[in-house]
Amino acid sequence: MDEMEIVERHKLLLEKIADADMVLIGIGEEFNEDFGDIVRFPHLMSALEEVDINQMLEWTVPFLEHRFLMEHNDGRLVEAYQNLYGMIKEKDYFVITTCIDENIKKAAFDRERLVEPCGNYEMFQCGDKCCSDLYPSKEFSDLVKQAILDKVGLDSLEIPKCPGCGKPLTYNNILCEQNYIEDGYQKQWEKYTKWLQRTLNKKLCILELGVELNLPNIIRWPFEKVAFYNQKASFFRINASLYQMTEELSDKGISIGMNAVEYLREFGHS
Ligand SMILES: [Zn+2]
Repeated sequence: MDEMEIVERHKLLLEKIADADMVLIGIGEEFNEDFGDIVRFPHLMSALEEVDINQMLEWTVPFLEHRFLMEHNDGRLVEAYQNLYGMIKEKDYFVITTCIDENIKKAAFDRERLVEPCGNYEMFQCGDKCCSDLYPSKEFSDLVKQAILDKVGLDSLEIPKCPGCGKPLTYNNILCEQNYIEDGYQKQWEKYTKWLQRTLNKKLCILELGVELNLPNIIRWPFEKVAFYNQKASFFRINASLYQMTEELSDKGISIGMNAVEYLREFGHS
């Protein structure tokens, strides 16, 4: 898609947001953290070297990634989120994301208007799913930080264990696969579904940003359905490769063929 075409469609998107009563935002795979910037954090790099040398420390890698997510507060994803926030902050919005990295929380989005059905790094759960209890992860994360900064080494740490069965705890997110405990996001999910019910006769602007086809039943298909049934909806699908619109939505759907992160960085601030 050429630049002029994108500029035109961006103008239309801004008009639709301005005119909308409500704005529904879906964030997908293009926003997944790739941990590339971890090279900018020498203490985390030396911890990862320690893991390279001692395979017994392999279990610490997700905990080091969590440290990175907590300490890395800039970069392209945060810039994209900040620009997106600037575009919708005055509106009645709700965000659903399949990302687990919580980068969106580094912009000023209202957390009450955010649902993360794939989980995040805030809570631990039993890796074996012996029960559905969740435990805050922060305390252990502080221990990891201390072990790295004091240079006592990662081998001074012990993997956190489930109080119920003694098996290792893991982060409460979709990386647990079939053991993922879905209780963590239920409260926000209820708010989300209630919010969606309110959109029915409203002027709704739908922004589907970088959503691919790995988990289509979370954002992609439900958004198409919402757009289809709402006579006053406008639907923007922004994606580098999967931007095609279904035939049913050809009258209210607008495709922008560009990576959604780069789109927001380039156009979102104007
Ligand atoms: Zn357990």
